[in-house]
Amino acid sequence: MDTTYADSFIVEGKLSLPYQYFAGRTGSKFIISLRDSKKILGVRCNTCNKVFVPPRSTCERCFADLTQSWVELKDTGVVTGFTVIRYEEPHQPVKPPYILGMILLDGADTPFPHIVKGVPISQMKTGLRVKAVFAKKTTSTIRDIDHFLVDESQKIEIGYTYDELEIGMAATFTKTITETDVYLFAGISGDFNPMHLNEEFAKKTPFGTRIAHGALPQCLIAPVLGMKMPGLGTVALEITTRFRAPTYFGDTITARAEVVEKIEAKRWVRMALTWTNQHGKLVAEGAALVIPPTPLS
Ligand SMILES: [Zn+2]
Repeated sequence: MDTTYADSFIVEGKLSLPYQYFAGRTGSKFIISLRDSKKILGVRCNTCNKVFVPPRSTCERCFADLTQSWVELKDTGVVTGFTVIRYEEPHQPVKPPYILGMILLDGADTPFPHIVKGVPISQMKTGLRVKAVFAKKTTSTIRDIDHFLVDESQKIEIGYTYDELEIGMAATFTKTITETDVYLFAGISGDFNPMHLNEEFAKKTPFGTRIAHGALPQCLIAPVLGMKMPGLGTVALEITTRFRAPTYFGDTITARAEVVEKIEAKRWVRMALTWTNQHGKLVAEGAALVIPPTPLS
């Protein structure tokens, strides 16, 4: 008999099979309690004191019968581990990417997996406190808890990370430069050049009146880089500036930074900088090399 199948043509296929199964007495009570009273139940072993959520009928440690030892758990807990789901397949509860965390409820000894929301993936970490958010519509499954939401107060806000930044992203900061600013800046810098402070002296210069220190409008780029683009946590490595026009008292200066290059090898970012006044005139231009913020541990 010929046992080679060189001519066989294989057709790949998938079957969808509807099915039912009994959740068990313990599992049923857990799901019904979630569905009808939004209560998360567990069981406590009276021998070893361990609390199991989701409940089980036998203690894994001392084999005691737990079917009569129900306890109600709080809807809050802590994330003890997590993974980020990035691939996509038809049976997922939500669209990837999403965070699947191991949730240890307060008062429980066993964690269980569930969806974590309310924190950017880049800032997800173990130890975050979470609270159950119940689904609006019941599905009679563990998804009657829609997800666990990260407690807002623990989030550490950072700016755009290297991976989040794209060429062309930009931000601005605008401020009116007053005489007060110039005097304060003279004190801070020690630069008491009469061009900035003495109107009679300044009248005899090519500008005909007092002008601000060049570094005063220049430093308006700091709130852009450090607070907006890339934002909180940014480290500046290099800032170059070419001054094009004077800043007069009362001028309103807009400092702008735009991402122009991502340096993959170092994960640094180069930004193009401009400073313009209220007439749209270019006061200065330059470039910055920065390390964008990295997620804090
Ligand atoms: Zn036990």
